[in-house]
Amino acid sequence: MMKGQWRRWGDHVNKKERGIRNLYAWNRLLSCPVCQGSVSVVPEGRLVCGDGHSFDVARQGYVNVLTGAVNSAYSKELFHARAKVIQETPLYRALHKNVGKLMDREAKKQDGVYRIGDFGCGEGSHLALLLEGRSNWMGAGLDLSKEGIQAATDHEDTPAVWLAADLVNVPLKTGSLDVALTILSPSNYKEMKRVLKPGGLAVKVIPGPGYMKEIRDFFQQNRRDAKENEALISRFEEAFDDVKAVSVKTAPAVTAPLRKELCRMSPLAWHAEEGEKERYEKEGAARLTMDLVVLTGRLPQ
Ligand SMILES: [Zn+2]
Repeated sequence: MMKGQWRRWGDHVNKKERGIRNLYAWNRLLSCPVCQGSVSVVPEGRLVCGDGHSFDVARQGYVNVLTGAVNSAYSKELFHARAKVIQETPLYRALHKNVGKLMDREAKKQDGVYRIGDFGCGEGSHLALLLEGRSNWMGAGLDLSKEGIQAATDHEDTPAVWLAADLVNVPLKTGSLDVALTILSPSNYKEMKRVLKPGGLAVKVIPGPGYMKEIRDFFQQNRRDAKENEALISRFEEAFDDVKAVSVKTAPAVTAPLRKELCRMSPLAWHAEEGEKERYEKEGAARLTMDLVVLTGRLPQ
């Protein structure tokens, strides 16, 4: 018997095939970003609409549906650091627990498949962790940055499609999502509302006033202004019904190697000089305040 003959079929599936398979699970829910018509998945790896607009599945398994060139400010290095910090440290654990509970509550309503879209998913770590162990959920990760979406395809076991897309022109059909999620990212509520099912749940995570205050203080950045949050919350309240705000606050320990990754990841440190970053790595505070606010709201039935 040849070695490897007993391997599961899934082991042989490469990234592109896996991407195509995940896209099939979203067949009839994807729309063309050019003409808004229905798109279908072509087996060899393409999305095609009735008007002939076509988007190839990249060899990594994602689809770039961007219709123009985009200058992304975010580098591969940033996404690598983000992936490490989000997946390998406890910094966002309380947030994942909170959002995960919201998903579980939605999924109790009836049997079947539930769908979540992450708007501005970056390298997909939040979405991948939220989908872990939730077998009745499927995800769509959307981000303007092709580099982020490319990195997201490393979550090979995650049942999600990864789409490089404009968040004001999302390639999903009206009413296709149970949950529209956006974490620490600017939002287009008009699009989020369009793609939610009637009665669907919008979840927006914003930084609380104390978010990463140790990094802000070290690099002498202003603390977050409480008024900024009030404005964000009232915009969310204008868009959705039954709005609730829950504060998720922890202060996990951070080690020097983690402080190094945080310097790569956080815009708060990007403009600092190398020497200052090294000093933060060595002498920065031993705990980091993770002050996040989870806003939830509903689309009317
Ligand atoms: Zn089209």
